[in-house]
Amino acid sequence: MSEQLEFVPVRTTHADVLLASAGERGVLCDFYDEDAADIYRDILHEDSWEAGEYTTRIRPASGPVLELGAGTGRLTFPLLSHGWEMTVLELSSAMRALFEGRLADAPTDQRDRCTVVAGDMSDFALGKRFGTVVISPGTINLLDTADRPGLYASVRDHLEPGGRFLLGVPDAVDAEPESLERSQEFAGASGRRYVLHARLVPAEEISEVTIYPADRSADPFVVCTSRVRGLTADQVVRELGQAGFDVVERAPLVFAGGRHQDVLLVATVRSDPS
Ligand code: SAM
Repeated sequence: MSEQLEFVPVRTTHADVLLASAGERGVLCDFYDEDAADIYRDILHEDSWEAGEYTTRIRPASGPVLELGAGTGRLTFPLLSHGWEMTVLELSSAMRALFEGRLADAPTDQRDRCTVVAGDMSDFALGKRFGTVVISPGTINLLDTADRPGLYASVRDHLEPGGRFLLGVPDAVDAEPESLERSQEFAGASGRRYVLHARLVPAEEISEVTIYPADRSADPFVVCTSRVRGLTADQVVRELGQAGFDVVERAPLVFAGGRHQDVLLVATVRSDPS
């Protein structure tokens, strides 16, 4: 991933079937590509409760916050409105363009407190340190096993002494056992309906995700794909331990609707490396 600063769309089995029947109307793209931008904006909503869970764990006066894989700023903008100074690192140029468009419309004091950088969270060197590094739930699942040590090492190198790494991880402990394939229809903010199809590939410990408009006559018919690595919070806690972090808190990310499948890990760099 660190060699290139863009995504190559994954050809999921389901996308192949859809594109074959859409013919020339069909467009395949990564979920974080420019072609997917309208769909991404429509289906990812801002959650101020989630930013609240993060913000209560950022120590006052701990200095600037670094967010990795910030997307269009679903977590960043609420954090900016809590008053934090933010640097956001994002790999996708399409996501950065959407983010920067939003930032241009934000109040001046928020614009002045936010810096956007292009980069790969599994291998970055920004030449400065932060009091807090944050990652929203689901983002670490985009990194392969081989890339995650690079993430932990880069975060370690960018934390001030005593700094905190706040890492959201989807944790499926309470979920029903997943079937190999499932489809679910849902509405975006615009009312437009979409289908999310997920296919587990147990041998690779990933899910192939395909998202597309429920209206299959759409022109263009944009089919977005992504590969999501299956990870539990326990696994991430183990990996953080091996990378020299102590996990000092493990909190369910709970909101008024009662969902508690995401976990927020609070980690600090171990002073004794043993
Ligand atoms: N934080 C945002 C949110 O909560 O809505 C976006 C989360 S989205 C699940 C993951 C984001 O990470 C996407 O914007 C994607 O482009 C970005 N991303 C994926 N791999 C990355 C990498 N290696 N380095 C930096 N960003 C990456």
